[in-house]
Amino acid sequence: MAFDTQAWLAEARALIGSAHVLSADRGDDLSAYTRDWRGKFQEPALAVLRPADTGEVQALMRLAARSGVAVIPQGGNTGMCAASVPVPGGRPQAILQLGRMDRIFEIDPENNTATVQAGCILQTLRERAAAAGRLFPLSLGAEGSCQIGGNIATNAGGVQVLRYGNMRDLVLGLEVVLPDGERLDLLRGLRKDNTGYDLKQFFIGAEGTLGVITAATVKLFPAPSAGSVAFAGLDSIGQAVRLLGAMRARMGERFAAFELISGDAVDLVRRYFPDTPALLERRWPWHVLMEAADGGGDEALREAMQAALMACLEEGCVEDVVLAGNLGQGRTLWSLRENITHAQQMDGGNIKHDISLPISRIPAFVERMLPQLRQSFPGARPIVYGHLGDGNLHFNVSAPAGVAPAAWQERTGAVNRLVHDAVAAMRGSISAEHGVGQLKRHEMASYKTAAELDVMRRIKRALDPQGLMNPGKVL
Ligand SMILES: Cc1cc2nc3c(=O)[nH]c(=O)nc-3n(C[C@H](O)[C@H](O)[C@H](O)COP(=O)(O)OP(=O)(O)OC[C@H]3O[C@@H](n4cnc5c(N)ncnc54)[C@H](O)[C@@H]3O)c2cc1C
Repeated sequence: MAFDTQAWLAEARALIGSAHVLSADRGDDLSAYTRDWRGKFQEPALAVLRPADTGEVQALMRLAARSGVAVIPQGGNTGMCAASVPVPGGRPQAILQLGRMDRIFEIDPENNTATVQAGCILQTLRERAAAAGRLFPLSLGAEGSCQIGGNIATNAGGVQVLRYGNMRDLVLGLEVVLPDGERLDLLRGLRKDNTGYDLKQFFIGAEGTLGVITAATVKLFPAPSAGSVAFAGLDSIGQAVRLLGAMRARMGERFAAFELISGDAVDLVRRYFPDTPALLERRWPWHVLMEAADGGGDEALREAMQAALMACLEEGCVEDVVLAGNLGQGRTLWSLRENITHAQQMDGGNIKHDISLPISRIPAFVERMLPQLRQSFPGARPIVYGHLGDGNLHFNVSAPAGVAPAAWQERTGAVNRLVHDAVAAMRGSISAEHGVGQLKRHEMASYKTAAELDVMRRIKRALDPQGLMNPGKVL
C-alpha cells in the first residue's frame, strides 16, 4: 500500500499537537533542520516532530514503527558529520527534534549530579550547575546551541577532556526510548553498579542509531575558584609533547586543558577576526593554549603556573609564553581557539579530519604528513589544531589559493585516503570526536575490522530490527 503522507501527518499531529509537527506541505520552513551545520548536506524530511516529553516520544516511535517511517533524532544540529539530517532516498524520514524537552529536573550538589531532559542546551546546564557551586565540565565551541542528548549521542569531547574525560566518562544514567517505543529506564546517579551489562554504553556515541535518549544523569564537580590561562610559542610539535609532559608533572590534577594551534591557524583567525591581538612578540610555527584550575585563590594558582612555565622555558620545552593576568585576558586567549572553526567556515573550502593517535606518535605523524600533503596537493593549506592533551587533532586541509570550494571538495576522497591511511598505519582513529554520520560511513569498511563491523551490525539488528533509527549513518 502506498504511503499516505497526509494521514501520517494527521496522526502525528493528533499525538503531539499540530503546532509541533512541522511539514513543508503546509508551508513550514524546515531548512534549519534538514541542512547540516556545515551546509553540505540537505535532503527533504517528511516532518519535523517536536515532542514535549518522553511519553510523546514513545507515542511517535510507536507510530513510526507501525508505519515504517525512519526517525532521525536531532539536538542542536551542530554535529560535523551530517548525522542529524536526512539521507538521500529510502523510506520517509522524520526528524525528531528534542528542543522542547529542555528541563533540568534536579541538581543534587551532595551526589554531585544533574538530571536533565535530553534537549537541555549544554550552556544552560553549565550555568545552572555554576549557580549551585558546581562544574559540568563539558565545554565546546557550540555549547550555546548543542544539547545534552546530542553530546551523549556523539560522545562529545571538548577542551577539558584532559582532566575530566569525554561525555562517556560524565554520564551516570540514561533514559532511552527504543525503536519500538519501549522506555528503557537507566536513569540512576550511581558511580558503582556492577549488575550485568552496562546498557547505557550502547547509546553513548551511537549517533542516534539505536534509540532516542530522552534524559540523562550526569556528573558534576566542585566548581574551581581559581583559573589560570597561558599561551605559548613553540618551534615544533615534539616540543609541545615535551611541554605537555613537563606541565602535567608540575601541575598534576590542576592541569585542565592543553590545546595545540598551528601558526597558520592563528593567521587564519587574525584574518577573519582582525580584532584578535598579537599575543606573542613574533610568529611561531606552533602554539599551545593551556589552562589550570583549582579550588584555591587566583594569585596562588597563577604563581604556580608561572613557576612551572619558567622551569619549562629553562628546560627548552617552550620558546615564549604569555600568562593571562586576569579572567578577561584568559577569555581573549580562549576566543582565539574558539574562532578557528568559524574562521575556517568563513574561509570556504576545507577538508576536515578529526583524528586521534597515541600522543607519543603525533610529532612523527605531523612531520611526515605535512610534506606529503604539500607534495600530493600543491598549494593545499593544512590548518592543524586540536586537543593535543587527548591525542586528538583537527588535521584540516584548506583549498589552495584560487581553487573554488566545490572543486576542492571533489578532492576529499583522495585527501582523506592519504591522511586516514597514515593514521591507520599508526593505529589511530579516523574519528576521535565528531563521529561517523553519513560523512565517514563509507570509510568504516576500510578502517574497522570485519569482526568489529559484524558485532556492531548484530547489536543494531537486536535493538532496531526494522532499521528505523537514523538509517544511512555509521553502518
Ligand atoms: C563551533 C563548533 C565547535 C565544536 N567543537 C566540538 C568539540 O570541541 N568537541 C566535540 O566533540 N564536538 C564539537 N563540535 C561538534 C558538535 O557540537 C558536537 O558533536 C555536539 O555534541 C552535537 O550536539 P547536538 O545537540 O548539536 O547534536 P546534533 O548535531 O543534533 O546530532 C548529533 C548526533 O546525535 C544524534 N542525537 C542528537 N540528539 C539525540 C538524542 N536525544 N538521542 C539520540 N540521538 C541523538 C543525532 O541523530 C546525530 O547522530 C563542535 C561543533 C561546532 C559547530
